Amino acid sequence: MTDVIRSAEALREKVAGWNRAGALVGVVPTMGALHDGHLSLARAARKQSDRVIVTIFVNPMQFNNPEDLKKYPRDEAHDLALLEADGVDVLFAPGPEEVYPNGFASKVSVSGVSEPMEGAFRPGHFDGVATVVTKLFGMTQAGRAFFGEKDWQQVQVVQRLVRDLNIPTRIIPCATIREEDGLAMSSRNVRLTAAERAIAPALHREMQTAAAAIRGGASADAALGAARKAILAAGFASVEYLDLRDAETLETVTSLDRPARLLAAAMLGEVRLIDNIAV
Ligand code: AMP
Repeated sequence: MTDVIRSAEALREKVAGWNRAGALVGVVPTMGALHDGHLSLARAARKQSDRVIVTIFVNPMQFNNPEDLKKYPRDEAHDLALLEADGVDVLFAPGPEEVYPNGFASKVSVSGVSEPMEGAFRPGHFDGVATVVTKLFGMTQAGRAFFGEKDWQQVQVVQRLVRDLNIPTRIIPCATIREEDGLAMSSRNVRLTAAERAIAPALHREMQTAAAAIRGGASADAALGAARKAILAAGFASVEYLDLRDAETLETVTSLDRPARLLAAAMLGEVRLIDNIAV
């Protein structure tokens, strides 16, 4: 049975019992509309912790676009059935007033890694992420937290945050889960029309082509320029960024002497897709 808990107070009681028993608690923060990507995190948490909490909170503070927040898919009953099937101990699903009660006045802000790419195109987004993640770590007291590499920059921001603030939660990054055609699973994919869904894998495909070219010695500029063109030609409305960066510091790189990552965000109709791969 998965317990559904909505208040921080009730969660604290639950976790206190686990802590007394010496259990290692794992948390998987999500915004719901769960898919196999989320469930892979829950399974990793199951394997690497004694108790598993999945949180579902569509965090208004991390949405820079009110329309995106309004249209964000929600289906808690379906989500709960999936978590039950995976043996998750607690679904923590607080309302906005539980997370941001009257008088709430704090903000956690990570500089550096949060500034380019998502940070530049979604102002305030990572402040919202850092703030809610700090709160969720405080509320769940989790020893481990599982995050998807799908949101590579987010993983780097959260790693920086726990190091900087001495938060005793270990961050465990988990591989991106993809559809058979390569499209990274995302809750926003359900908003794609059938025609857009057919175009969507072009993002990952062209990123792979560019990564292979760079590995083969092509200049990053040339490879990324060609990929950008190909993504637009496939039917994407715009490419917000397509960058080759140091995998950890996220600084721009042009050579491959350290682990590098190719990261992209592109608009397909009204849906914003992001992806990243190792180079
Ligand atoms: P979200 O609900 O989109 O905020 O995502 C919650 C967590 O699931 C984040 O750590 C995401 O990186 C992770 N996640 C989302 N999509 C995928 C995916 N396709 N593969 C692996 N992890 C994912």
